[in-house]
Amino acid sequence: MPTEHKEQPEFIPGSIGTVKVFGVPVRFHFTFVLLLIFLLFIGIGAKQSGAFTAVYIIALFVSVLIHEIGHTLVARRYGIRTIEIVMFPIGGVSRPERQPKPSEELWVAIAGPLVNLLIGAGLLAWVASAHGWQAMERLQEPTDANLAERIGLGNLVLCVFNLLPAYPMDGGRILRSILALRLPVEEATRIAASAGQTLAFLMGLAGLLYGNFLLLFVALFVWIGAAQEGAAARGRLFTAGFPVRAAMITDFRTLEHGQTIRDAGELLLKTSQHDFPVMAGNTVAGLLTRSALMRAMVAQGPEAYVAGAMDRDFKRVSPDTPLTEVMPLLSGQDRCVLVMDEDEHLVGMLTSENFSEFVLLRQASMHPHTA
Ligand code: ZN
Repeated sequence: MPTEHKEQPEFIPGSIGTVKVFGVPVRFHFTFVLLLIFLLFIGIGAKQSGAFTAVYIIALFVSVLIHEIGHTLVARRYGIRTIEIVMFPIGGVSRPERQPKPSEELWVAIAGPLVNLLIGAGLLAWVASAHGWQAMERLQEPTDANLAERIGLGNLVLCVFNLLPAYPMDGGRILRSILALRLPVEEATRIAASAGQTLAFLMGLAGLLYGNFLLLFVALFVWIGAAQEGAAARGRLFTAGFPVRAAMITDFRTLEHGQTIRDAGELLLKTSQHDFPVMAGNTVAGLLTRSALMRAMVAQGPEAYVAGAMDRDFKRVSPDTPLTEVMPLLSGQDRCVLVMDEDEHLVGMLTSENFSEFVLLRQASMHPHTA
């Protein structure tokens, strides 16, 4: 494994291979590759040849990819870069570098299903004009002859499915952006996320009843996404108006830059801290995270200096920064920011753990006596 670049945003783990489309890295989750192989195996059968099955599957996969590119290009119009597109078995996920505003999100979200609608309608219209509608009647039976119809129909299914109002699917995003015209964004997200969880529950139930594992799988995916978004919205709701100062850790240990990885390891065991500010006298020289500590322990051994392993461009905020602004900094692998005053003095630390504790406390104090 090469050393990571800090500027580079992290990629979703488990994805392999990268191709660039419109300058955006497209990656494939390993489960997606497994699904392709599986589909090829079950698809080869009676009336369609292996080659046509492969074309069908690849065409649907390309349709999903163009759907994601649709999101990407509209997002780009609003100046939002896409970090990566990852292809999962049940569809693509494009990760924007920032959340679009509600008015932008409406168009970014619509762009994807619209692409599938255009492909589907276009293909079906082309088939109808060439062979007439009677070709459609044989769609129940997949054959080599009705490949174009099936790809067209597949795109219409993709369009309708993505428009289900279940956050984080596109329909849920559209629902949220419309709700956000009247409601605060957090409230809109919360409603769209619970709609997503309700729909995910129903989809999961239907999947179980009919033994449809793909549906069950999608339901799980939507459920997890909706739960995460709901939690993030709750976080923003309950921390609104509070500065970093209100939630930061003020009782913590630091390392000196001349100390060794061994010293750091001992401190890691002795305390409940995962991340340690590294000091050079009175100033902060860097931040040693637990993962950097482990990497240094493996690569350089216990006698190496912490100065060689620490992150010099750690995330820093002022005690007066609003907590809602710090939330995005606390997601990702090393979830710790240092709090420094205007004289560059270290006054506190903020981790995702104590941030969620703060949210829990706020939530509890808002509903105190429900007897
Ligand atoms: Zn989409």
